[in-house]
Amino acid sequence: MEFTDISLKDIDQLANTSFPLCMRHLFNRLREDHHLKHGGRMQLGLFLKGVGLNLENALAFWRAEFSQKVGSERFDKEYAYTVRHNYGKEGKRTDYTPYSCQKIISVTPSVGDHHGCPYRHFSEENLRAALSKMGVGGRAMDDVMDKVRNRHYQLACTMTFETIHAASCDSGINHPNQYFIQSRKLLEP
Ligand code: SF4
Repeated sequence: MEFTDISLKDIDQLANTSFPLCMRHLFNRLREDHHLKHGGRMQLGLFLKGVGLNLENALAFWRAEFSQKVGSERFDKEYAYTVRHNYGKEGKRTDYTPYSCQKIISVTPSVGDHHGCPYRHFSEENLRAALSKMGVGGRAMDDVMDKVRNRHYQLACTMTFETIHAASCDSGINHPNQYFIQSRKLLEP
């Protein structure tokens, strides 16, 4: 599930408009903390690869954040390998695919982790705050929370998509990269 190349100068705007909540959350934590644990790096890193961030830009993106926390030397020694690995340039040279919703929903994040699906893993209070920042409110917020209470996390995500894009998503959301592609189609037809 590939998209045309995206450049680093556009990435914040794309995150704000077209990333699903799971990826917005990881992206924002990375921007604020300049660090993500392994599970978060894998979930966001493979998603970014899928939306068209090439290896060179991916290394520049992760280095810019991590070097503020651990220094660029340590980034190059300890973390650059994983970025190249995700692009099939190290180890078994497998070209890893971005995670589906089903896979993300089924993980069990530990304290300090930011990966997973917010519809499943956030507290109600945190989820309401995050949805409100995305522009979900009123009746739509109640409908999304109702789906969450009934453990229909992908339906909750689909309703969020429909609310903020003011468009229907008949196929439903089943993959974060599908969310991104459908969003770009609506916003940049
Ligand atoms: Fe991400 Fe899928 Fe959860 Fe939506 S339903 S937040 S795309 S994992």
